Amino acid sequence: MIRIDRDRLWRTLMELKQIGAYSDEATGLQGVRRLALTDADAEARRRCVEWMVEADLEVRVDRIGNVYATRPGRDRTLSCVLMGSHIDTVATGGAFDGTLGVLGGIEVMRTLNDAGIQTLRDIEVGFFTEEEGVRFGTDMLGSAVTAGRIPLDHAHKLTDADGKSVKEELVRIGFDGPAPERRPVPHAYLECHIEQGPLLAEAGVDIGIVQGVQSISWQRLTVRGEAAHAGTTPIGSRHDAGLVAASVVVEARRMCDSGEFGQLRATVGNFDIGEGQTNVIPHRAVITVDLRNPDDALMTAAEQHLAGYVDRLAGQHGVRIAWERMAKTVMVPFDARIQDLLAATADDLGLPYVRAMSGAGHDAQEIAAICPTAMVFVAGENAGISHTPREYSNPDACGNGTDVLANAVLRLANEADEPVS
Ligand SMILES: [Zn+2]
Repeated sequence: MIRIDRDRLWRTLMELKQIGAYSDEATGLQGVRRLALTDADAEARRRCVEWMVEADLEVRVDRIGNVYATRPGRDRTLSCVLMGSHIDTVATGGAFDGTLGVLGGIEVMRTLNDAGIQTLRDIEVGFFTEEEGVRFGTDMLGSAVTAGRIPLDHAHKLTDADGKSVKEELVRIGFDGPAPERRPVPHAYLECHIEQGPLLAEAGVDIGIVQGVQSISWQRLTVRGEAAHAGTTPIGSRHDAGLVAASVVVEARRMCDSGEFGQLRATVGNFDIGEGQTNVIPHRAVITVDLRNPDDALMTAAEQHLAGYVDRLAGQHGVRIAWERMAKTVMVPFDARIQDLLAATADDLGLPYVRAMSGAGHDAQEIAAICPTAMVFVAGENAGISHTPREYSNPDACGNGTDVLANAVLRLANEADEPVS
């Protein structure tokens, strides 16, 4: 078994945290704001490329700005083992989401170098463009283009709130690479990522072996009612868009509590009733509905129930309602053989683990479409809270997760055959 250098990994994590650092008013902590293809992202990308070059890796950039770095194996005709994740963050990000998998991957390469280990297959570490979807509106963008789910041309034309396109910004920051976005198919893909949830901490373990990523549905709901005087309009003759939107919020929660839809999670994270005038009945409301479910059939049932509920509300209150689909992904199961290989690796390292579904979306769910894929989760403190500067995984948890990654990658990179899985 090999062991990565925990101090070196931690120093790297803390160094990258300084790029895009901001002082967060809500928490009083230093956070990270490194939206995809901004100047901060560009600086972090350049720093990672420097680390890759220092580790003697061959770096290439593809046409959607994904960056890969290769450590050659003995037989370069064989497909590689790929590690990766992302280094872009949300506007209120922390130091671990995504970066642990990328910097952990670079640390694996350094460790292999230090140990003088040559593998049979090439090993690559990479990072994917715009995983968070915060700037250009589509999450897992770079990995989805690589996996062929989103055409390159479509991705290039996506724009941010200021009308700047992905393509323009790739060119501007110098990451509009020449490598084909449909990369050579890897032997396997492994992603080490913080859990962003409480399950590992509750189980008292640092390591999770991820079974898959649950189905995600994002919809936008626009309610059109009628503005009217708050004092003179009788309750029975109102067309209150705000009331209808609020009812959806409450129903979404009731659906979760009912147990009818399995492990459904529903969130209305955006609630806009326009001008917000104290003495006027809201005539328009826009909300987003985020549904998550590890079961596709129950997800469909939840969407249908909500649509029916909203229809009834529209009739009852005399309002017009429009749904807009923002995103939908089905449940993605990870490769069973690689999950077992990760479990065996954790056992050999003496690290206890649990198996868990992922509640969040990850690049791995896209790459799973092209090659056998699995993920290692690392526990976080404060119930695994993430997308906030409070996000924190301690040096031991990060080190343990990266040790599992390192040894699993080593095993996969010495596999001669393409196993059927
Ligand atoms: Zn992430």
